Order: sequence, then C-alpha cells, then structure tokens
Amino acid sequence: MAKTPKYVYFFGGGKADGNESMKDLLGGKGANLAEMAGHPDLRLPVPPGFTITTEVCTYFYKNGRKYPPELKSQVDAAMAKVEKLLGRKFGDPENPLLVSVRSGARRSMPGMMETVLNVGLTSKTINGLIKQSGGNERFAYDAYRRLIMMYSDVVMEKAEGIEPKDGKGIRKILDERLEEVKHQKGYKSDTDLTVDDLKALVEEFKAKVQEVLGKPFPDDPQEQLWGAIGAVFLSWNGKRAVEYRRIEKIPDEWGTAVNVQSMVFGNMGDDSATGVAFTRNPATGEPIFYGEYLINAQGEDVVAGIRTPAPINEESANDQSRHLPTLKQLMPKIYKELDDIRKRLEKHYKDMLDIEFTIEKGKLYMLQCRVGKRNGTAAVRIAVDMYKEKLIDADTAVLRVAPNQLVELLLPMLDPKAELATHPIAKGLPAGPGGAVGRVVFTSKDAVEWASRGEKVVLVREETSPEDVDGMHKAQAILTSKGGMTSHAALVARGWGKCCIVGCGDIEIADDNKSFRTKKGDVVVKEGDWISLNGTKGLVYVGQLPLIDVDIEHNKYLAEFMKLVDKARVLKVRTNADTPKDAAQAVKFGAEGIGLFRTEHMFYGEGSDKPLFLLRKMIVSKTTEERRKALDELFPYVKNDVKATLEVMEGRPVTIRLLDPPLHEFVPHDEEKLAILANELGVDIAELKKRAESLRENNPMLGHRGVRLGITYPEITEMQVRAILEAAAELIKDGKKAIPEIMIPVTCTPAELVHQKAIVDKVASEVKAKFNLNKLPFMYGTMIEIPRAALVANKMAEIAEFFSFGTNDLTQMGFGFSRDDIGSFLPDYLNNKILKDDPFQTIDQEGIGELIKIGIERGRSTRADLKVGICGEHGGDPESVKFCHRVGMNYVSCSPFRVPIARLAAAHAAIEEKKAMAAKGAKASKKKCAKK
Ligand code: PEP
Ligand code: MG
Repeated sequence: MAKTPKYVYFFGGGKADGNESMKDLLGGKGANLAEMAGHPDLRLPVPPGFTITTEVCTYFYKNGRKYPPELKSQVDAAMAKVEKLLGRKFGDPENPLLVSVRSGARRSMPGMMETVLNVGLTSKTINGLIKQSGGNERFAYDAYRRLIMMYSDVVMEKAEGIEPKDGKGIRKILDERLEEVKHQKGYKSDTDLTVDDLKALVEEFKAKVQEVLGKPFPDDPQEQLWGAIGAVFLSWNGKRAVEYRRIEKIPDEWGTAVNVQSMVFGNMGDDSATGVAFTRNPATGEPIFYGEYLINAQGEDVVAGIRTPAPINEESANDQSRHLPTLKQLMPKIYKELDDIRKRLEKHYKDMLDIEFTIEKGKLYMLQCRVGKRNGTAAVRIAVDMYKEKLIDADTAVLRVAPNQLVELLLPMLDPKAELATHPIAKGLPAGPGGAVGRVVFTSKDAVEWASRGEKVVLVREETSPEDVDGMHKAQAILTSKGGMTSHAALVARGWGKCCIVGCGDIEIADDNKSFRTKKGDVVVKEGDWISLNGTKGLVYVGQLPLIDVDIEHNKYLAEFMKLVDKARVLKVRTNADTPKDAAQAVKFGAEGIGLFRTEHMFYGEGSDKPLFLLRKMIVSKTTEERRKALDELFPYVKNDVKATLEVMEGRPVTIRLLDPPLHEFVPHDEEKLAILANELGVDIAELKKRAESLRENNPMLGHRGVRLGITYPEITEMQVRAILEAAAELIKDGKKAIPEIMIPVTCTPAELVHQKAIVDKVASEVKAKFNLNKLPFMYGTMIEIPRAALVANKMAEIAEFFSFGTNDLTQMGFGFSRDDIGSFLPDYLNNKILKDDPFQTIDQEGIGELIKIGIERGRSTRADLKVGICGEHGGDPESVKFCHRVGMNYVSCSPFRVPIARLAAAHAAIEEKKAMAAKGAKASKKKCAKK
C-alpha cells in the first residue's frame, strides 16, 4: 500500500517534525520555526503550531483549488498536539486556542502574501479569551475587531474575489469608521478606545460586513481556519505576489507553505510588547544587535509603521526614536534573554538573522527567524567580520556577497561639496545607501509610466505597500514620510540595494497626491520637480545635486573582502578601456590588464578634433598616395594615444584592437565641416560628397568594417601596427615595460589573419631595427565574433596566438538580431517567455555559448596554450563570467566599474566548481565503499 503523504509538520515543546534544511517543502518560515523549536542546540520558546507544506499549494492549483483528501485529518491531528501542549482547545468557549495563519515561501517575499491573526475568536470563545487575559475585556474586543477587519478583507473579499463597492474595499470602509469614532471621541490613538467603544465597533463591523459583502462574518472557528488557509494559498497568485516573483525571478511552481501557529499577544498590556530585530545592523553590517519594538502592540503594528517603534537598545536609536525608552532599559531581563538568543542563533546559523519576537505578560516568544536581508555594504562587512570571528571559512565569506551587491559599494553618491553648499529640506531614516536624483512622482503607476519614457523618478509616498513594488523597482529612489527601518519600503529597497529614505516625518504629502510640503511649511515640492536624496544619511534636497563616484580604495572592509575574492578565483579580470584615465581607474578596481582598447575611441569626444579631421581626410582620400599622406599625419596621434595607456598599465597586457567600425560612420554631415575638408584636400564639395556617398552601405554592421578595411587598405593596418609597436619600443627604451597584444577584429577566415600578419611581421622587424632592439615582445591575435570564425577556430589558431570573444557581435550574428534594433521587439520576446533574458546582457549559453565552447576547444586543439578571453559587454555580467570560467577562458574583460563585480563572480565560479567536485568525489568514494 502506498504511504500516505505527509502534508503537515508539527513544531513545539522542544520538538519538530521538520528542520531548517526543508525550506523547499516547509517554506523559509516553516523550516526555521521547526529549527528554532526542535534543534537540540536551540529549543527556543516558539509558540507551538504546524506547517502545511508547499506541496499542498501545488496540489491546490493543479486540482481546481481542492486540497488533498488526507489534509483535513492531518491538520486535526496537529491541532490536537498543539492543544495538548497548551492545555487549550481550538473553539473551546472556556479556554480557547487562537491561531495565526501565515504564508511562507521558500524565499522570503516580504508582505506580498496574506496573514490572518486571532483565528478562532468568535462570539462564543471571546469570554474564554477574556478569562485567559485575566479579565482584560478591552484586549479581547480589540483582538476581535482586528480579526474582523483582517479576515473580511483578506478572506471574504480578496480571496473570494468580491468586487469592492464603489471601488472602496471593506478594509477601507472599516478603517474609516474606526477613524470616525476616534475623531468623534477626540482620541489620538487606537489605544484610547474603551471597552464599550470596541464592543460597539465589533457589532457595527459585523453588520457592515453582512451589508457590504452580502454574508455574515463566520462565527465558526473551523470555518475561519479553513477560510484563512485558503486565502493564504490564493494569495500566492495575487497580483502583487506575481509581480514580485517576476522581478525577483522566483519560479511560479514553488508555491507557498501555510504556517498555523498558536497566538501569543504583545498587546495584553504594558508588560507585553512585540518587535523585530537583526542580529547585526543590516545597513552597515556593524556587529551590534539592532531592532525596534512596540509596547502593547501586535506584530503587524511594527511593520505597518502606524506608531514610531522604540529602539531595543541605544545603538538602534535614530533621530525619531531617540527619546523613547529602550527595551534594554524597560525590560532588562527580557532584553538579556533576547540578546542570548541572538548569540545562540548566530552561532547556530552562522549568518546574520532577522528575528521577530513577542513578549506576552513578561514572557518572551520567538515568532520567526530567517537569514536577514542586508545591503551590499553590510553584506561585505558581515562576511569579513564573520570570517575573522571564525564563524565561517573564506569560501563561505566570498559566497555570502552576491556579485551585483557590490554595485552599491561602487555606487555614486551625492557630491559632499554640493551637499555642504546647500541645506537639506528634510531628514528621514537612512534605509538604503547611496545617492539618487530624480523627479518626484507620488504613485507607483506614475513611477512606471514616467520611467518607461526614460525619466528618472523618485517615488514619494506616505508609506509603501506591496502593491507599489513595480513603481519602487523602476524608481531611482524611494522616499516615505512614515514607517521605520523595518517598514515595507525599507525591507524591499534594502533587498534591492536601492537608495531609500523612510519615516521622513519632516514632509507632508498633499491630499491630492500632487505635491508635498515640509512641515515647517517653507518648501513645496510638486510632481515633476527634481529632488536629490542622500540615502546614507537620510537627507532630502530640492534640485539636482551632482552625483560622484565612491572612493573604494578607502573602504577597509571591501579591501579585505576583495583579498579573499582574489585568493579564490582563477579567472583573470581585465578591463575595456580606451583612455589612460579609464585605465588608471580600472587598475584601482583591480584590473589585471586591458582586454579591449578600441582604437577608434580616440576619434570621439574631448581632444578628438584634430585626429578626427585627419581620419576623415584619410577616409575620403581617393588615391593610395593621398591616403598614405593622411595616415602619416595621423600616426603620431595614434602612437601617443596608445603609449599613454600602455604606460599607465605598467607592463600589464594591453589588447589593442585595430580600427573596427565602417568608415562611413566618421564622415561629417554638416556643410561647414565638409567645406573645410574639401579645402584641405583641394577638391570641391560636390566631389567630396560623391566620395562620402560612395562609402554608404545598406548593412554597415555586415559591411566594410574590421579586418576588411585592412585588407582593402593595408596601409591603414600598417600605420596602426607601427604606432603600437613604436609606442611600446619607446617605453622599453625608457626602461619601462609594455606588452601590446595586436588584435584583428571581425575575422571569419584564417586567410585574413595570414594577410594581416605579413604586415605586422614586416613592421615589427622595421621597428626593432629603428630602435635597435633585439626583442620587442608583443602578441598577435584575433577577435572571434563571427560564428564562422568559431567553427574554423582550429585553423584561426594556427596564426592567432590569442582569441578574444566579441560576444556583442557574436550574439548579433549568431541570433541574427541587430544589436542596435533589438529594443523594438525584445520586450515581446521576454513577456512571451520566448527568451529568458536579453542575450546582449547575459550570454545565451545554449546557443552562443556553444559557439564559444567550440571556438575554445578547436582553437586549443591546434595551439594548446592559446590565450582566450572575452571582451563583449557580457564580460561584466556575473552569470556570463561564471560561464567563462567553466569553459576555461583565461580572462574576462569589462568596463572599469564592473571589474570588482567580475572578480567576485569569477571567485564564485571557482568555489562552486570546487564544491561540485568535492561532492562528486564524496559520492564516488561512497559508491566505492558500498561496493567493498
Ligand atoms: C564585440 O563585438 O563583442 C566587441 C567587443 O566589439 P564591438 O562592441 O566594438 O563591436
Ligand atoms: Mg565587435
């Protein structure tokens, strides 16, 4: 007989059916509750409960929203265990057990799914609850009105798909009524409501639910329980959860678990409280206990940002909470107990954790613990500190930081000088570091719309809710007037490493959502106005302040971290740089050479007037003689340009690519420039235009470019090679080091390489003779950016000493997608899941990756020591970098700013490979043992 599947996992009383390793089945929350409750090293005070597995969620959606038949009896049995432990019964009027019903996916999705608290509270059980609370009627009716508010919204309206009346949902209707009563009675806070107020409200709310939703509020505990469970499963496919999954790339098939847990109350009086904390500071990584709590409150109150939470200790205080008493002062014994738990948890999990706790009548309970989200700055510091504390080894430390998290540490910040020269208009809490500048919008929808028009926006809201995630994602930064460091906006922004300021009480958003004013009333900022945020300090400025790059050299934790990274990696990291300034910056970022120096860049931008003029002269020359003359004039510019960069690189390898773009790109369009050029060449404008016109092509990307120019005009190759080798020779003569690597672009057949090599060899011997040098070290190689070149790589490698994969063109020509025009159809490809990612951003491993593998294999079959790298944009994309490691490249090359990210990705690749090999080895030796 088939075994009955286990759908329900119990935890509590020092025991648990599950454990931390079962996240796929129990979700993150359920797995960690089991671990905290049941692991012998922990056995923490966790209120007993049970987890319904993610398999049930999958089953639910596969079977027309029905549960597996075994579920009901398993839930009943688990509930009975909880009842036995607590000596209370679910639905018992005398001594009732109340439960919370919460979601919990494999990966945390903060606030994206539903929760219902106080389930089991009915007109019959309320008296039992009053008894349990020592006659606290106010507490019990407050719990009842909360249940009605939450349940009618989450279960009766949203989950059952009832359309809100007049666009106003039941939650809003009840909220407004609550506010009305408070207003009528002159109360400031919910806590001012009396027992009689609450009793009346409960009755009123029930009547309102019947009126608005057309059915009574359920008075049966079992109906409430199953309603809440169903609502949580349904919320997995709610709009905001789906949106969040899309952004975070969480698979739809994972499903959520449901955690049913006995209630403990932080709102039973002034000896009760609830809070959230991090075992280390999640914004800076400092190893201090960091958290917030609220006396006499339920869990949701902290996250919702309704009251300003107090700091658990002095170190957690901020400008808004400094005046409030800390938990350490108010309840020193509990604080100590919590701090001990913090230490035990860190020792056990060996990571920074995010915990939720409740204190009920002076007794501490742990409600949640999970690996805490942190920004990049904190991630680096925590990894380094934990390594030094010997909690983790070097490899683990390196793996603790995601390559893209480093982006934040390399992020621009507001120019401090500009900040000093002006005054902030407001100050809030620094939830996400870095600087950002954008135009103000007040709704998530506007943020999405404006951003799609290419506008930089800052989303300003009272507080954010999960519905806002899309707009938050599109905005440069987020500013909220309410909420604390653990509010929704702070958690989400921190996860993304986005600049964010929360709880900025200095500003007041107008009712029409079109402007905000500072509380002092002196500044009004309207929709579309520019503001600048310093997310590291929580400062808001009007206008556009300049952004500057950060100084990574003085970041001590980053320096230590990168040392561990460099020890772990095998793959070298070079940079794509065309100026000495970029090259120097890249060296500071750890570049070990230049993988792509695009010669044509000297003809763009600052100081390019003269060389560009000479290049144009060369381009429109008619005879070889004319062309040679122009090239001779151009020669010193090219030589100096190359020399300056070779010098900065101090003997590190520098791959210099010969002229690549189609010449027509450089022909001037304006009449004045044409006239000057015509004059210089001694021809009339009409003749010049004719010459320019003759260069026009229908498909320039597939036209006369790259090596094809050098084949038609060998003198162009000759001049460039001479410039490169003379630059190197001059440096060598000065006692310096220089290793140029001459790279031929857009090749597709070895014959092209042979043709160009003859020129290179001739020039090399001439330069050696001229400078009286015995040796002039350089390499000769090619880009592999045409599929044919990859396929005939064995032959290409007979001549080329190195390959550099130009994956921009290789992707363009492999897919047949124009790299300049893909924007018009790529969104349709992504939305229809025809492509998973933009192939110009991350290597298409299945297709283009295969060409790369073939290219490397065939190339090395001819030349075993063939040096192989990549210089397309993919060289800075972490997933692509890992791929490059796996296929055995020697280096990747990327823009200077992405060098540290590529170094980290390369280290991850090496460590992952090492682990996979160790696992394979362990498996093999196990097999061997088994055979013996
Ligand atoms: C490439 O094609 O990947 C490359 C690096 O060259 P470019 O982008 O200059 O065409
Ligand atoms: Mg190219």
